[in-house]
Amino acid sequence: MKTSEIIAQLEAKHPGEPEFIQAVREVLLSIEDIYNQHPEFEKNKIVERLVEPDRIFTFRIPWVDDKGEVQINLGYRVQFNNAIGPYKGGTRFHHTVNLSTLKFLGFEQTFKNALSTLPMGGGKGGSDFSPKGKSEREIMRFCQAYVTELYKYIGPDMDVPAGDVGVGGREVGFMYGMYKKLTRECTGTFTGKGFEFGGSRLRPESTGYGAIYMVNDICKQHNIEFKGKTVAVSGFGNVAWGATMKATELGAKVVCISGPDGYIYDENGINTQEKFDYMCELRNSGNDVVEPYAKKFGAQFFAGKKPWEHKVDIALPCAIQNELNLEDAKKLVANGVTIVAEVSNMGCTAEAAEFFVEKRIIFAPGKAVNCGGVSCSCLEMSQNAAHIYWSEAEVDERLHQIMKDIHTQCVEYGKEPDGYINYVKGANIAGFMKVAKAMIGQGVC
Ligand code: GLU
Repeated sequence: MKTSEIIAQLEAKHPGEPEFIQAVREVLLSIEDIYNQHPEFEKNKIVERLVEPDRIFTFRIPWVDDKGEVQINLGYRVQFNNAIGPYKGGTRFHHTVNLSTLKFLGFEQTFKNALSTLPMGGGKGGSDFSPKGKSEREIMRFCQAYVTELYKYIGPDMDVPAGDVGVGGREVGFMYGMYKKLTRECTGTFTGKGFEFGGSRLRPESTGYGAIYMVNDICKQHNIEFKGKTVAVSGFGNVAWGATMKATELGAKVVCISGPDGYIYDENGINTQEKFDYMCELRNSGNDVVEPYAKKFGAQFFAGKKPWEHKVDIALPCAIQNELNLEDAKKLVANGVTIVAEVSNMGCTAEAAEFFVEKRIIFAPGKAVNCGGVSCSCLEMSQNAAHIYWSEAEVDERLHQIMKDIHTQCVEYGKEPDGYINYVKGANIAGFMKVAKAMIGQGVC
């Protein structure tokens, strides 16, 4: 495989998609050696087929705001690859959403879902609609308008959307309600639904919980005690919330959370029910700021700064892609960080990720660390298909096992000759091998 040639061709064919190219480059560099040991991959043009989504839907979303004015946003669904199962992946509503973002997320999702051990293909969707400052009614009308177009392309065995940045249980509920009205079926189709209408126990917590299960397994693998470690988390949304709660439960101390306005440092730890609930309150306020936390709990607030300048043992980017750059990585390493685990998708820039690996810092990529979210979504699909509900304990046990299996795969494929476990390489190879074998098994199509 000639990685640089493939990347050059992709760049020429799809100009202006830097996030997508970044995600492809990372995977191809990791799998190059193993790819060359399998002539059947080259013969079947697996990589050339994998870097193009099966199809992309782009559509206009007209809706009416509270003032009665017509607003227009762009909607997308990228059905990336269904070699392993129905397209599966979240929906992002954020002003930065464009095709490059969604192609990168769909590409990542394909490998992440393969790694999950469950039967899911990869997809992603969303819109450049920003929920910030919108009323609940506006959000509902927008979700309904989005689904009015999307419903034609999705289904329980075809493509199953869920949440992502800007899309939580409330938005999934609004989308699913309209989907049911249009299709007259109650087959699930969306995951992350309310518990009263088919949602799974633990789905809201699962991404953050799964991430901490993974970090805990990483600690065990390296004979490190997770208990007592200080942790910096970025973001204050659903993922940050779940990670903060589970890290606290397992005895670590989360001292930072952040927002677009800056970060807070709470030396006492973000470790009480009141503080966890306040994170939800901040998120639901729709203002996208974290500063009020500092005022309420007497913590420090650093305007316009990122939490990576703080001395901590474990860093968990939980907000958005490329939120931790080389400069941040250097600060963390200078301050003696032990583990960096991406909980957001591609939370680190390529340079930052390479720097961690070069310095032999334990570094785990998003597609392994945040896999608990989509895995719990698949557990929701199973419950819906079988018309049953599992208890919180049952879901948690399954989630635990899935994260353990992902960790084992990363170690199997990522162990370097010097004993360093390259989790990036391990996750990419394990995910790729499964997708590649599934594609070959189903012929050229
Ligand atoms: N958006 C989440 C992810 O990036 C969850 C996707 C899902 O549950 O389908 O994996």
